[in-house]
Amino acid sequence: MATAPIDLYAPYDTRVRNALNNPHLRTALSRSTIRLSSQRVTALRAVDGQRLRDQTRQMKEDVLRRLPDLLEQFEGNVTANGGTVHWARDAAEVNQIVLQIARQANVQKVVKAKSMATEEVHLNHALEEAGIVPVETDLGEYIIQLAGEPPSHIVAPVVHKRLEDISALFQEKLDMPPTFDPEMMCSVARGRLRQEFLTADMGVSGCNFAIAETGTVCIVTNEGNGRMTSSMPRVYVAVMGLEKMVPTVEDAFLQFQALTRSSTGQQCSVYLSMTSGPRKPGDAEGPDEFHVVIMDNGRLDMLARDYGEALMCIRCGACLNVCPVYREIGGHAYGSTYSGPIGAVISPLLPAHVTNPEKLPHASTLCGACRDACPVKIDLPRLLLDLRADYVQEGESPWVEHQAIKGFVYAMQSRARYEAAGKAGSLGSNMLASLSGGTVKTLPPPLSGWTNSRDFPPFAKKSFRQQWAERLRRRKVV
Ligand code: SF4
Repeated sequence: MATAPIDLYAPYDTRVRNALNNPHLRTALSRSTIRLSSQRVTALRAVDGQRLRDQTRQMKEDVLRRLPDLLEQFEGNVTANGGTVHWARDAAEVNQIVLQIARQANVQKVVKAKSMATEEVHLNHALEEAGIVPVETDLGEYIIQLAGEPPSHIVAPVVHKRLEDISALFQEKLDMPPTFDPEMMCSVARGRLRQEFLTADMGVSGCNFAIAETGTVCIVTNEGNGRMTSSMPRVYVAVMGLEKMVPTVEDAFLQFQALTRSSTGQQCSVYLSMTSGPRKPGDAEGPDEFHVVIMDNGRLDMLARDYGEALMCIRCGACLNVCPVYREIGGHAYGSTYSGPIGAVISPLLPAHVTNPEKLPHASTLCGACRDACPVKIDLPRLLLDLRADYVQEGESPWVEHQAIKGFVYAMQSRARYEAAGKAGSLGSNMLASLSGGTVKTLPPPLSGWTNSRDFPPFAKKSFRQQWAERLRRRKVV
């Protein structure tokens, strides 16, 4: 079956339908998400996982309380180290600042380490429009750049592709002979990327956390591309959301522990690259220029609207891996850079263009698995419910849903009405079921959305109260 091309701006229902109709997507998703989830559980079991989560939460709460002071301290230290801090209100300003730095340094090619912040502002697009070539150097990002697709997971951008898909892509784009050997594919990609590093003028990365007391940008990778991005080109630019602060080096290592164990189930990642400034006289390596772009892009509004808890997210992806909705539809169906439960919370709150943002808080069963997996104990189900309530207040809920809730409230206010509604439901659903052989296959519109992909067993013919009364009567008789 041919799969529909990925269109992040299609209506939400179309995006979900395309995902559900993709025959390979669930295979790819379940292979990766189940593996990542079980690795996380094992890694947290090896330490006092609850204590680590409590400590990380406390630290992130402290960061939010002291955010302005920490940002100021960070800027002072980066400047003292010889770097430059730039402040960006929105995505357009981030791109403007990076382009200005690139133009001043006569940059033709940019190598990039994996960065959700630059995905959020569509930096690659801005660079290409300005005639500058961006090259993704994280293997997963490199693969989706070859495929011309956006990432579908915070940590594993290529989680929606099977090995077979990647093999076909490498044959088509890199002239590679057919193989399913991941090591061979990696070594071909590594060879190509090595040349890109050697010829790039500028490196751009995100930032996993930034240490206020030292003015240090930290990036966590397993491939070493973060280190090469930040040290080989003449100019290095780190782009980060303003919530990425941690107060001290000790706090940085606390977050590092929580991040690596929760994202990939590792005790620690292969590389942790820390940059505090440009190369100094006598240094063996390092960039001539070091810039940090700190962006707001809707984050201060989130704080003001009581959604600050979502800013404690350390982007580990654990909530995506355990979410039963994400496991079915994958990341592209969310239509945003950020997917899964955390994406369903922050995407409608960020100023980026998302089609049907009001539907995202409903892309959840509210089962709570995300909250239980989150290393910062973010109460994602509560945030999703708050967002749903906000949309209802703004009149964004569908008319049918509104009327159904009103009807439900009316029925629940009186026992007679409640019992009458139950009888009507039982009679109607049993009639429909008898017409279609025992179970309701198709409900009439507007309820047909339910039966498009689920059964609808008819209501019990007798209510619980009726059955209970009959049982008591029978006992008395006996
Ligand atoms: S919300 Fe929690 S689990 Fe989800 S990505 Fe953020 S830190 Fe990880």
